[in-house]
Amino acid sequence: MPNVEETLTNKIKELYPDQIQSWLEAAKERKVGLEEYLYQTNRVSGQEILKIKKEIFKLPVKVFNQDEIIDEKVLTIIPENTAKVYQIVAFDHRNNEVDIGVVNPNQPNLTEAIEFIKTSLRVEPKIFLISFNDFYFAIRQYHLFSKELKGLINQFRERKPYDQTKEIVRLTEEVLPTEEAPVIKLIEFIISEGVAQKVSDVHLEPLSDRTRLRFRIQGDLKTVAYFPKDIHYQLINRIKILADMKIEETRVPQDGRFRAWVEDREIDFRVGILPVAGTEKVAIRVLDPSVGLKRLPEIGVSDFNFDKIKAAIKRPFGMILISGPTGSGKTTSLYAMLQELNKENVNLVSLEDPVEYEIDGVNQSQVKPEINYTFATGLREILRQDPDIILVGEIRDRETAELAVHASLTGHLVLSTIHTNNALGTITRLVDIGIERFLLPQTILLLISQRLARRLCDDCKVKKDADENFKKIINESFKNLPGGLTDKYAKGDNYQIYYPQGCQKCNFKGFVGRIGIFEVVLITDEIKNAVYQGLTEEEVAKLLPKQNFISLRQDGILKALAGLVNLEEIVKIT
Ligand SMILES: [Zn+2]
Repeated sequence: MPNVEETLTNKIKELYPDQIQSWLEAAKERKVGLEEYLYQTNRVSGQEILKIKKEIFKLPVKVFNQDEIIDEKVLTIIPENTAKVYQIVAFDHRNNEVDIGVVNPNQPNLTEAIEFIKTSLRVEPKIFLISFNDFYFAIRQYHLFSKELKGLINQFRERKPYDQTKEIVRLTEEVLPTEEAPVIKLIEFIISEGVAQKVSDVHLEPLSDRTRLRFRIQGDLKTVAYFPKDIHYQLINRIKILADMKIEETRVPQDGRFRAWVEDREIDFRVGILPVAGTEKVAIRVLDPSVGLKRLPEIGVSDFNFDKIKAAIKRPFGMILISGPTGSGKTTSLYAMLQELNKENVNLVSLEDPVEYEIDGVNQSQVKPEINYTFATGLREILRQDPDIILVGEIRDRETAELAVHASLTGHLVLSTIHTNNALGTITRLVDIGIERFLLPQTILLLISQRLARRLCDDCKVKKDADENFKKIINESFKNLPGGLTDKYAKGDNYQIYYPQGCQKCNFKGFVGRIGIFEVVLITDEIKNAVYQGLTEEEVAKLLPKQNFISLRQDGILKALAGLVNLEEIVKIT
C-alpha cells in the first residue's frame, strides 16, 4: 500500500503550495496527521481530501447525506469503542455483506480488526473511504439526540426536587459530583449536539412553565427540546461556571467565553446571559471555524469579482473597504479575505470587536473601549508592530479613518468595513467624517458592497418562466452587463426563474441558509479622476458600467437565473 501521509501531503502541496509548510508545522505541533489537522481547522474541505484519498487507495467512497440515519442494527455491528479506535463505521448491509466506512485504510491493526468482524459475525465486509467529517457524523448516531435527551432529563426526575438554598451555601465536596453530574452531562450533550448540527447559536429560554432549547441553523431558529422548569437555573449556573461568570449575579447582563474540545476539535463559545422577568436567558454563539469561516467563493463571490479581489489583495498597500447595512455579512467577508491573505511571509495584524474566530498566524487583538483601547488607539499601537497587512473591524469615526488612510499611505494594506449602503457611498461617508477628498483616490484600491439573500433549497425549488414584469427588470439590468455573462441564461427572449416551495429537507421553508450578493468597484484611473474632480456619487456611478463592473442588482439577477436565489427577493433588496 502507498505511503498515504506522504502522497496526501504531496497532493495538497500541489494544490496549496503557499500554505502547506505552515499547515505541516501546525499539525506537528498538535501531534496529529495532516489530514486530521485539515479537518480540525477546516483548511481544506472533507470532500476535497476524500477525492485525493480515492486516487491514492482506489477504493469506493461513501458520503453521507446530512439527514441520513443509519439503521441501529447495522451501526452496532461494530461496537462504539472499536469504531472510535479504528475510525470505522458500519453503515449498510445486504444478506451477508456489510458496508464499512474507513477514514484511513493504513491504520495499524485495521486489517486484523476487520478480519475479526468478518470471522466472528460471518459477514463479508466491503470497504469504503469516508472523510473525517462523515466519520463523526456516523459516530454521533450511536447517541441519537432525542433518545439520549430523554434519558438525561429522566435522571433529574429520579432525584428529589432541587433545594435552592443548598446551592447558595455551597455544597460539600462529597455531595457536589452526584448533585451536579446530570446537569454537567446535559449541558455537555447540548453543546456537542449543537456543534454536530452545525448551529451558529444555542438559546436556552425560560417560558412560563418550562425552558425551551432552540438552535439556530443556517439562519433559522428551530425548537429542539423543552426542559422542566425546575432545572432552568441549574442549566444557567452550569453555563455561568463554564464561561467564568458570577453565579450570584442575576440582575445585570453578563458576557463570557469558553473553549471546549468537541469532536476532537477546539471550539470557542461566546456566552451572553440576559436578565428577563425575574429569571435569565442564555444565548451561546458557537464559533466553529468549519461553520463560520468561509472562503470567498463559498459566500457567494463570483469568479468575476473574485479575480478583482485577488488582484487587489496582492498590492503592497492601499485600502479595501467593505460596505453594507448591519447584518449583511461584512465580517464574514472580512474573515474570508483574511484567509486569502494569511501567508507565512506577511505580518498580519487585526483589531476586532470582538475577536470571533481565532486564525493561526494572524495577530488578533480585541478592542476594549472601556479601558480606552479603541480602534483608533489600537491602530496607533499596531503601526509600531511593523505590520504588512492591517485589518480594522470597522471604521466609524474620524480618528480611525484618518489613521487607516495614513497607514495605507505609508505602505500597508488596510482592510476594513464601513456602514454605508453602496460601494461609492463609502467615499461620500469618508469625506463626511472628515477625510480630505484628494487622499481617497490615492489610497482606496477596491470598494465592495454586499447584501445577504436567502439561498433557495436545491431539493424543492420550482422553475418558472419569468413574467413580463420580471423580464423587463432583467433586460433593463442586463443592458450594461460586461459581455459574455448573459448567454447562459437567455432562452430566446425568455428567462427562467426559481421559486421556493418547501420540503422535509428545508423544514418547509423553501430556503436553506443565505448567500452574499456583491458589487466590487475597482478604483480605476477614470474613477480616480472623477473623485479628484469632486463629481457627485451619482455622476461617478454613471461611469461604472464602462469599468468592467457588475452591480448588486446584476449580481443578484445572475444568481437568481442560476437558481440560487429568488428574483422577487433580489428586486426588494438591491
Ligand atoms: Zn426544500
